[in-house]
Amino acid sequence: MARRILEELKQLVLLRSLQARIFLIILVVGVVPGVLMRYGILSNYEERSVENRIANVQNQLLVVGNHLISNNYFNPDVMEERNPGVSRDVIDAELEMISNLYEGRVLIINSGLKVMEDTYGLSEGKTIVSEEVIKCLRGESVSHYDREHGYIEMTTPIIDTSATSGEGGSASGKIVGVMLTSISNDAIVATMEVLNRQALILENLMLVGIVALAIVLSTLLTKPFNRVTKAIHEVKAGYTDEKISVKGYAETVHIVDAFNQLLGRMKTLDDSRQEFVANVSHELKTPMTSVKVLADSLLAQQDAPAELYREFMEDIVSEIDRENRIITDLLALVKMDKKVQDLNIAQININDLAELILKRLRPIARKKDVEVVFESMRPVTAEVDEVKLTLVMTNLVENAIKYNKDHGWVKVVLDADHQYFTFMVSDSGLGIPEDALANIYERFYRVDKSHSREIGGTGLGLAITKSAVLAHRGSITATSTEGEGSVFTVKIPLAYDRRT
Ligand code: ADP
Repeated sequence: MARRILEELKQLVLLRSLQARIFLIILVVGVVPGVLMRYGILSNYEERSVENRIANVQNQLLVVGNHLISNNYFNPDVMEERNPGVSRDVIDAELEMISNLYEGRVLIINSGLKVMEDTYGLSEGKTIVSEEVIKCLRGESVSHYDREHGYIEMTTPIIDTSATSGEGGSASGKIVGVMLTSISNDAIVATMEVLNRQALILENLMLVGIVALAIVLSTLLTKPFNRVTKAIHEVKAGYTDEKISVKGYAETVHIVDAFNQLLGRMKTLDDSRQEFVANVSHELKTPMTSVKVLADSLLAQQDAPAELYREFMEDIVSEIDRENRIITDLLALVKMDKKVQDLNIAQININDLAELILKRLRPIARKKDVEVVFESMRPVTAEVDEVKLTLVMTNLVENAIKYNKDHGWVKVVLDADHQYFTFMVSDSGLGIPEDALANIYERFYRVDKSHSREIGGTGLGLAITKSAVLAHRGSITATSTEGEGSVFTVKIPLAYDRRT
């Protein structure tokens, strides 16, 4: 049982191979028509041969029938009187000839169903009750080919054309008897066997040719695919800048193109991962270096005054705070990168959420004397992850305050149509240079590194924001004029699409 299952599995795996399929298709297309043709020709030959044989025998029997009538066979007294002995011998000889020629048996039966003559000499004088004979006496002659037992049986009416009335009479004469003949089909079978043998030899020769053709073609046709696999195996060890190039079919070229694109993407991902790790190490190292420098300089001084200690300790604490902020942001980013399914979607009142966030941020704005205005065009509720959307709104408004001038303003506008809500944050701040605008969502990217550091930026805020917006299948765009201010617009669907 287990072996059978294993064998079936093997067969399946084999059938999954393109080469095996091409081989089988060529084999089937090459062999099946030949076999069908052989069967068709042979059975057609058999049919026609049987028909011919029946027609020939019937013709000869008709002649014999006519002789029988003309010699008054069914009227023995008259027959003897006219042609004593001779007629009967002639008829016997004719029947004998037919019987020998066609390897068969002829019975002459009169209208009383009595066997008058049997070339085998077995049934003479007996009465025969057979459906075919009765039918024939009524004028319906039949022939029947029994392939299984190898004979053809037929009935031939003996018509007395001089008599036109009485039972069994017809327009052209009266049926006075029936010849029941069965002949062998040995000759047909023998010819068919010869034909079949020749066809089989031809077929086998063709099969050898087709198998060879199938092997060659299936190997040749699948070669480009094997070359692609080989080329992919070669680059599997590590992704290099080199693209693979394999000439072949349009299909293999498409596969190679797709693979090269994938390779490019993997390379980009690998590069960005390496860059990210380098950036993280650098960003985390900077506060640590400052802490070490501060601590070292304190240790180096023998009798440092308490105020100096205090001052240095405050600096150390602020560096540790910074380190903490970076780590918190990094954790947020890593969480954001996880699967979209991690979103905790709920129906949220966006107006209330925006109000709450602005309330939290107003104290920071007040410190810089920045005016924060909230304009809600309509009440908005949407299916969102509250924590992640809070991050989005907080980051954008916080940036608008952080990168603002003193006495500037920040305007937050919430609007919605039937499909999306938009959250727009404009400020009267420093603005972002045009060439930097495309990079602001990159991790650790800061337009002005020292300024951003001064105001406590980690360069991760907008990266987190963008991830959170994309997780909601939304979009974020930014326009800015240097020295005048920036506008960040977030567009998020009101209903979260839970499909993949
Ligand atoms: P950071 O933590 O440094 O603020 P972000 O990822 O939030 O990092 O922002 C990236 C950079 O984009 C900032 O360093 C800043 O230079 C620029 N930026 C972001 N928002 C604004 C804004 N509203 N006005 C001017 N510059 C901005």
